[in-house]
Amino acid sequence: MRVYNFSAGPAVLPEEVLKEAAAEMLDYNGTGMSVMEMSHRSKAFEEIINTAEQDLRDLMNIPDNYKVLFLQGGASQQFAMIPMNLMKNKKAAYIITGQWAKKAYQEAQNYGEAVAVASSADKTFSYIPDCSDLDIPEDADYVYICENNTIYGTKFKQLPNTKGKTLVADVSSCFLSEPVDVTKYGIIYGGVQKNIGPAGVVIVIIREDLITEDTLPGTPTMLKYKTHADNKSLYNTPPAYGIYICGKVFKWLKKMGGLEAMKERNEKKAKILYDYLDQSKLFKGTVVEKDRSLMNVPFVTGNEELDAKFVKEAKAAGFENLKGHRTVGGMRASIYNAMPIEGVEKLVEFMKKFEEENS
Ligand SMILES: *Cc1c(COP(=O)(O)O)cnc(C)c1O
Repeated sequence: MRVYNFSAGPAVLPEEVLKEAAAEMLDYNGTGMSVMEMSHRSKAFEEIINTAEQDLRDLMNIPDNYKVLFLQGGASQQFAMIPMNLMKNKKAAYIITGQWAKKAYQEAQNYGEAVAVASSADKTFSYIPDCSDLDIPEDADYVYICENNTIYGTKFKQLPNTKGKTLVADVSSCFLSEPVDVTKYGIIYGGVQKNIGPAGVVIVIIREDLITEDTLPGTPTMLKYKTHADNKSLYNTPPAYGIYICGKVFKWLKKMGGLEAMKERNEKKAKILYDYLDQSKLFKGTVVEKDRSLMNVPFVTGNEELDAKFVKEAKAAGFENLKGHRTVGGMRASIYNAMPIEGVEKLVEFMKKFEEENS
């Protein structure tokens, strides 16, 4: 029996995709082998990766002057790869809206001067700071954001004014949850295990002029964007099976009506939960209303014991992974693309019942 899985990542995938993958496990498309077993230079795999890239381009309307790279090392690898490739002036501006942004900021300090130009640390990252007029250094190579903060449940509803600098965004936990204007970014990247596929793949969408030979001295071959761009993500063996599943999720998203339709569905889904939280006398959302994420919804009762009781009883009732991040406590429901509306409706029903029983 499948549970309702509210994990922040690795996270729920569309059941349809899993069933398809299961059906193709022993014999992919008449090749007599699993995608796991085939050469990444084979015709069959070439078609898998090319189709995946094209479908992603269609979904996100990615312009021709952007490359799509399927890499490894998780989103965390990008924390180093970005400064190694982009810090020509050895300076970059970071907006600190949570732990992932902070980790990226700290990592960048190994390569140059990372300047924190804004932060919401003063209120436990429960809001997105005003980024309309930041003091961005004249010689900054880029401005860095984490667009959706997985742990704290905030989302940039408006991109920062970068004052002409290249915008770099970690979209791990909001990837493909709504339409984006790719032209506003220099790099959009994300680990796929939140909203797209199995852990082990990170997708980097990068504007071509940012792909150069001119990386920091000592940058390993594997950490140069140029290496992967020149070889269409096949410089070495890519995370082939993961890319195959991502490709299936792209097809699923197209079938669902694309990103406009996903946005509508995600808004509807999140509203069910936020509306309940807003009127509940027991549970409260922890994020400033205007900055609420559609993907990650943290909430608390204000009583740690009651939180633990809720998580335990929810689990017994088939709602898994509702415990908040270990650094913040409370609860968090991650309601990514693949979480059915019914999952959120049933969760809210369960919360209502728990509220009645515990007040
Ligand atoms: C999960 C997450 C990461 C870390 O991803 P890894 O693939 O484990 O390195 C980075 N950024 C955000 C926003 C995340 O949600």
